[in-house]
Amino acid sequence: MRSTTLLLILAYATTLVVGRPATTSTSATTAAEAPHNSGQVEIFTHCNRPGVFALTFDDGPDKFSWGLAKRLKDQGIKATFFLNGENSVNVLTDSTMTDEGEKTYLEVIKHYYDSGHEVASHTLKHINLVGLSEEQVKEQMNKQSDIIYKATGKRVRLMRPPEGVVDDVSSKVLSELGYYDIMWDVDTKDWEHKGLKAEQARIREVMDKDVANKTMGHIALEHDIHQDTVETLVPWFIQYVKQKGYEFVTVSDCIGVEPYFADTNSTIPNASG
Ligand SMILES: [Zn+2]
Repeated sequence: MRSTTLLLILAYATTLVVGRPATTSTSATTAAEAPHNSGQVEIFTHCNRPGVFALTFDDGPDKFSWGLAKRLKDQGIKATFFLNGENSVNVLTDSTMTDEGEKTYLEVIKHYYDSGHEVASHTLKHINLVGLSEEQVKEQMNKQSDIIYKATGKRVRLMRPPEGVVDDVSSKVLSELGYYDIMWDVDTKDWEHKGLKAEQARIREVMDKDVANKTMGHIALEHDIHQDTVETLVPWFIQYVKQKGYEFVTVSDCIGVEPYFADTNSTIPNASG
């Protein structure tokens, strides 16, 4: 069920046009350039079938996350959240007021999961993985895995590298740890705060070209740490995607992989995995 090499090449071409993060290091191998021979992490930029759509949110949790997870659930929508432990908030020490009382951020992560959404890793501290040692990459991934495990009892397999970039070292470590590298093919660039019209234009630039029953489903990038994203962009985006007749799915469903390790005590899968 994995994408063929041809599809991956096409996806990279798309990513290079619409999905490339603004910040890259000169020494960086972008995810789009990473080789796919064994030993390197497997990269996905879109779904493996038409008619589905994966809404993804990075950099949380934050104070808008609880309500967003609930509103999506109330609309029957499943999303995927790529979480940091120490970024916008410190998950292990901070808490937030919600419409259901004060909640710790570990409870917010559990709430994502209990609301039917998928949880995934965006590293512990949102550090660009390019140039890090194997040990440093492992620390970023394993400590974040521990935090999500503490909140949900699940060991995640989906990750998104900060700024969308990996190099050979981090790619190899991610592969050894059993992760899938989840990129995107629809970039809202909501972090630029240029307003809904600019975000709509970027989404339409990709999705208005879709051919029914033919174009592979999309993975769209947003950030639930921004109020305008949660309150303005998301409601419009949902209507737009629904009007196109797409089904909202989690990333694991969209690409056809397991989101969590079956053995919840392990951080490292069998060597051949
Ligand atoms: Zn990020």
